[in-house]
Amino acid sequence: MTVGHCVYASFAGYLYTFGCQLLNMEDKNVRCSFCGRDKSEALILIAGIDGHICEVCVEQATDIVKEELFSNKEKEKGKFLLPANLTPKKIKEYLDEYVIDQDDAKKYLAVAVYNHYKRIGIDFKDDVEIEKSNILFVGRTGTGKTLMAKSIAKLLNVPFAIVDATVFTEAGYVGEDVESILSRLLQVCDYNVQAAEKGIVYIDEVDKIARKSDNPSITRDVSGEGVQQALLKMLEGTDVNVPPQGGRKHPEQKLIKVNTENILFICGGAFDGVEKLIARRLNTQVIGYNSKEKDKIDRDNLLQYVNHQDLRHYGLIPELLGRLPVLTYLNPLDVKALESILTQPKNAIIKQYKKLFLLEGIELKITKGALQYIAQKAMEYNLGARGLRSICEEIMTDAMFEMPSKKDIKVFEVDLHYVKEKLEKSKLSQLKVAS
Ligand code: ADP
Repeated sequence: MTVGHCVYASFAGYLYTFGCQLLNMEDKNVRCSFCGRDKSEALILIAGIDGHICEVCVEQATDIVKEELFSNKEKEKGKFLLPANLTPKKIKEYLDEYVIDQDDAKKYLAVAVYNHYKRIGIDFKDDVEIEKSNILFVGRTGTGKTLMAKSIAKLLNVPFAIVDATVFTEAGYVGEDVESILSRLLQVCDYNVQAAEKGIVYIDEVDKIARKSDNPSITRDVSGEGVQQALLKMLEGTDVNVPPQGGRKHPEQKLIKVNTENILFICGGAFDGVEKLIARRLNTQVIGYNSKEKDKIDRDNLLQYVNHQDLRHYGLIPELLGRLPVLTYLNPLDVKALESILTQPKNAIIKQYKKLFLLEGIELKITKGALQYIAQKAMEYNLGARGLRSICEEIMTDAMFEMPSKKDIKVFEVDLHYVKEKLEKSKLSQLKVAS
């Protein structure tokens, strides 16, 4: 119980009934039980069961009560509580509904997010301080990095912003200041600073701010190392003065203070070519071991062995890597995964088309052969999951254009033949030659 509570409780005791009465000033030796003033110094002394209170103490007590109740309310508002019964396993199960494969990344993300929000919920301080668990995803484009970050934010119902690291430059140069990362977060939650301070930020393409060469630069590297340096404090947790509209800070602009201590930063990048660095490291590591060790390495997917050292060689500075302690990878998607992405996630593309057709009173049926073909084409065109949507658009657009005006159609079946015909005519088929 705090001081405020004590005062409040005893004060309430004194005033417990209407029986409280103004003191009869004739009584001798009567003093305020709180401050000791005697009746000659007080304007009013109110009598309780076995004590008295003067008007000054009543006022002070009221202030304490107000302050205490108000600040407790504020604390409650600022506190983030994980939804009841949520566990890392449940977080992963939720991600499974939206993201196909990527089991390792999901597991790492689930644990990191769980610990992060547990850490926020702690309202006592001792010697053991739990550090932030910002996350770094390494994986080709279109493998689900953004989708995972977005899905987590949706599950926790916290503000979420996506920013692209390539637009930032070191302060003083053309481009955006890194502080504008937080402007986006503020914008999505209507400038509610308290909500933003518990949000999640996804910084895409962090690989593009890698130092261009492994040795510290002699010339200035405004878009690479400078930006990494600028990000350090923000990722770790500090008060940042944020320009509300983003972009560059200018002197007459009013800035909003945002504390980043509880903001979870998830960074992602393709890190093209990092496999070579991983292979080199693995080769040197296994020298001297028997050849069995070498055989165990899955050379087709080297990304799974990525570590902080590889990314340092790639050009991320050690200080930044230190602030992204959770490192995980996403697998390249194979044809089977692409096929599943078409139909299985809660918000799958085919489910969306089915709904659109249903709104016109038409049942969309799509054969297994057609789905397989679409997945194969996405693979062939080198478009990954991102390409599934454009391929489907090519296939469906004609039908979506015509069918709403044909009232007699009740079922629309898309089979292999239909898909092939549409794709052969489309501009997408040029991509194979181009790639
Ligand atoms: P990136 O890895 O480049 O951030 P995104 O997460 O933005 O890729 O993926 C692009 C789109 O592809 C998403 O909107 C989603 O529809 C689809 N997608 C990519 N990977 C997956 C996956 N593993 N499971 C389900 N859908 C996926």
